[in-house]
Amino acid sequence: MFGISVVGSGTIWVRKGRSWAFTWVVFLNKLVCVEVAGTIESARKHVRAARAEGARIGFVPTMGALHVGHISLIEAAVKESDYVVVSIFVNPAQFGVAEDFEEYPRPLDRDLEICAGHGVDLVFAPSSVEMYTSENVTWVSVEKLTEPLCGRSRPGHFRGVCTVCAKLFNIVMADVAFFGQKDAQQAIVIKRMAADLNMPLEIVVCPTVREPDGLAVSSRNQYLSGGQRKDAAAVYECLRKCREMILAGAVQTETIITKMRKILKAVPSIEIEYISIVDAETLEALEIVRGRILAAVAVKIGPTRLIDNIVVDIAGK
Ligand code: AMP
Repeated sequence: MFGISVVGSGTIWVRKGRSWAFTWVVFLNKLVCVEVAGTIESARKHVRAARAEGARIGFVPTMGALHVGHISLIEAAVKESDYVVVSIFVNPAQFGVAEDFEEYPRPLDRDLEICAGHGVDLVFAPSSVEMYTSENVTWVSVEKLTEPLCGRSRPGHFRGVCTVCAKLFNIVMADVAFFGQKDAQQAIVIKRMAADLNMPLEIVVCPTVREPDGLAVSSRNQYLSGGQRKDAAAVYECLRKCREMILAGAVQTETIITKMRKILKAVPSIEIEYISIVDAETLEALEIVRGRILAAVAVKIGPTRLIDNIVVDIAGK
């Protein structure tokens, strides 16, 4: 597991209120533990106690099936805060009807071991019922920034993401929350939501962690067959080509996108959802490359949807 020898692990379930547990793992020959809260009340109680001791609270929201990308966020949180909370919640509100909510991997025991081994203090792993009551009629929608890119192909997705993040921010009350550049539009939308709603927390965006062939690490990569996994490398290859063309002086986005499309079209298993070059802050489509641009791609390989992006700063090239 990530080059680390785990020689033992387990969960001690101790009922306190509605749920409470303690996961331990032997990590680098040391016994380490993480507290697990299944209820909002219990999560709040743990965080309140840490804050009372003057801790700066760091928060990493996830849907679990943790991998090296998530671990990079956890490491950043451990470095920049005194008490680290990771949430593990597969949020039904951000999945469309024909999407993979049911199949989404949920290896909770393994996730708890990873959290324990990487210095997380508290895992908040609520049920759907805990997070959404039947009376829930309040939703958070961010306008404009959610219209292009993934917003176009996944109606309602960002409303689900923003609502769950707003709820999690209100539960955890962190000083700083960590998101991945891998989901660039999500990070931009959440930053905007936090600013517009005067949420008292800082949003830090961490770089995308990639496989050796460039494929962005994702919980969904495990859906890919061996052949599909090889084909998926073309996604980063087309983004690399985009950067190369821009750095060589190309400015017409149409020309760059045509070249990117050609790379993806050469792989028969890949179905292109979108290839876009937009302003990295406003997400407005660009005809001419200028300033900081975000090149973003979404594809399907079989039933698996993959997204990736790069930022190129023309001013700083
Ligand atoms: P998810 O569990 O997919 O909702 O992701 C939780 C957080 O991890 C989000 O902020 C993602 O952007 C981030 N993340 C996912 N994959 C990566 C990666 N390969 N590199 C960096 N961050 C990532």
